Amino acid sequence: MLRAAAVLTAAALVASAAYVGASAPTAIARPTVSDGADPATPTTGSPASPAARAAAPLTGTTIVIDPGHQLGNSRFPRQINRPVDAGGIRKACNTTGTATNAGFAEATFTWRVAKRLRSMLRARGATVVMTRTRNSRAFWGPCVDVRGKLGNMGYRGRTRAADLKISIHGDGAAASGRGFHVIVTGKRGAVVRSARLGRITRAALEDRGFRRSTYTAGGTALVRRSDLGTLNLSRIPTVMVELGNMRNARDARAMRSAAGQRRYARALASAAQGYLHP
Ligand SMILES: [Zn+2]
Repeated sequence: MLRAAAVLTAAALVASAAYVGASAPTAIARPTVSDGADPATPTTGSPASPAARAAAPLTGTTIVIDPGHQLGNSRFPRQINRPVDAGGIRKACNTTGTATNAGFAEATFTWRVAKRLRSMLRARGATVVMTRTRNSRAFWGPCVDVRGKLGNMGYRGRTRAADLKISIHGDGAAASGRGFHVIVTGKRGAVVRSARLGRITRAALEDRGFRRSTYTAGGTALVRRSDLGTLNLSRIPTVMVELGNMRNARDARAMRSAAGQRRYARALASAAQGYLHP
């Protein structure tokens, strides 16, 4: 979910308030870098034999996966509300994300899809870079400026830009609406290439049986936005996917289940491969 307003379940609000009130953060693992509690680290696929490399179509490519919000964000309001550069505008570092009505967190959904996607891409030979490397209530972040810049040439010493970026989210809209939508930047930079990646991603999700959003984008399931740091600051082809509406019962069932998470990941892996090796 991408709205500025934090959306929390009642249970999460209680837990968050209780936690902050108890001033327990001293018990929490502290950030080791200044721009987020969970530093992104590149993870490389295991070395493969020549035969395996020939069978791995994404060998030599680097793909950034951004699993959105850290699970602990609701516990760190000061850190995640801190304004950061979001590409010509300033926005909060991050938000809490949304959840299903039963309290299954967006952070956990995106994390599980991201891990499955990472495995699938590595199996195809890709090097995968994650914007966060764990899903824990003890951590916060990553800020939108980090999520936006990760993979850019020159950022954190990168001498070659990553090939594409997929930012994974679940939406928190009115319960009656369902379906996925894909967001690409409306700004300068990799606009054209991101638009193509957006269309390929939409097709890949439909191929796996997912329906276009019924509540936004006029049935196209494609949206351009210029107010999102993750898109504004990225200089590589980037899509942000709202894979479903977590407040909708049918979408929530798919998003909660291992089978549904696997199907989402397969669609996104197909999108990456379809874009890089059509
Ligand atoms: Zn989100």
